[in-house]
Amino acid sequence: VGPTIAAGEILVEIMATDRGLGFLEPLTLVGPYPSGAPAIFIDQVARLGGSAGLIGCVGRDDFGTINLERLQRDGVDVSAVAVSDRYPTGSAFVRYRPDGGRDFVYNIAESAAGQIRLTHEARQLADRAGHLHVMGSTLSVAGLRDIVAYATKAVRARGGSTSFDPNVRKELIDGADGTQFSALVDDADLLLPSGEELLTAAGVDDECQAVKALIARGVGEIVLKRGAAGSSRFAADGSRIDCAGFLVEEVDPTGAGDCFGATYLTCRRQGMEPGKALFYANAAGARNVTRRGPMEGVTGFDVLDGFIAGTQRAT
Ligand code: ADP
Repeated sequence: VGPTIAAGEILVEIMATDRGLGFLEPLTLVGPYPSGAPAIFIDQVARLGGSAGLIGCVGRDDFGTINLERLQRDGVDVSAVAVSDRYPTGSAFVRYRPDGGRDFVYNIAESAAGQIRLTHEARQLADRAGHLHVMGSTLSVAGLRDIVAYATKAVRARGGSTSFDPNVRKELIDGADGTQFSALVDDADLLLPSGEELLTAAGVDDECQAVKALIARGVGEIVLKRGAAGSSRFAADGSRIDCAGFLVEEVDPTGAGDCFGATYLTCRRQGMEPGKALFYANAAGARNVTRRGPMEGVTGFDVLDGFIAGTQRAT
């Protein structure tokens, strides 16, 4: 029992509408949209009726306000989100390459998101939590490493669980300590890699071997995100469940992995069996990519059930 909590960057995202153009030429940009992987994740938890809290920091500005208002409206406990008078809310600019890939320009280190500290409010939230979700991007901010260390201990002491999404962005992780990454992998009850991250986390180049190696290292269960192809779930008892993706037109892929992970976790915390949780997670990820804006596709069970009823799946 106790809320699911996450910690990390709360940002606004400003995105290019023209696919294929680089930042070196004038672009049409839209936004600001509420964003930041931990914020998207925890908002999705709340929208599914899960008790949810976020540790973070925003500036005392409009970009901070749109995030706080959205999170509060959706039912997230923001008591541990500090408001900085000195630093502006962090931001991310994204543009899409012709091959569908993305390039980001981040303003995090010198923003409020870079000032996250283990505050009194953060300790209080962690002391009540039943589940801690950690993102790979956490490793880029010093204060977050303290928060994760404290919250992991606090959650474990209460008999709670942890999940880790090794969503490492090269721009954010350069220079970070690899041993800390390994410890986060090994400690995870639930690991949520996407694509190549499974192999990177295991240090091998075969999917089956990677799963075996990680389970042997102590990971409780692995849910692998496969983009449009769907997902797979591997458990410590050797069982495997595959779930085909829904057929949708991708408008904006940002946030899909966070919606997916939050949905799987919340369904499981609500007592749903793994296959059904994976199915809902696939639906949440697929629906998210049909909406422009990272947090705009976050949704509750009512909308997900409608989406499932009206959408075909790949075979
Ligand atoms: P991440 O955002 O972490 O890289 P993915 O891109 O794999 O993760 O997306 C997470 C999940 O969202 C996928 O496992 C899938 O269920 C769903 N999803 C993502 N992109 C699509 C897509 N184009 N079509 C259908 N489902 C998708």
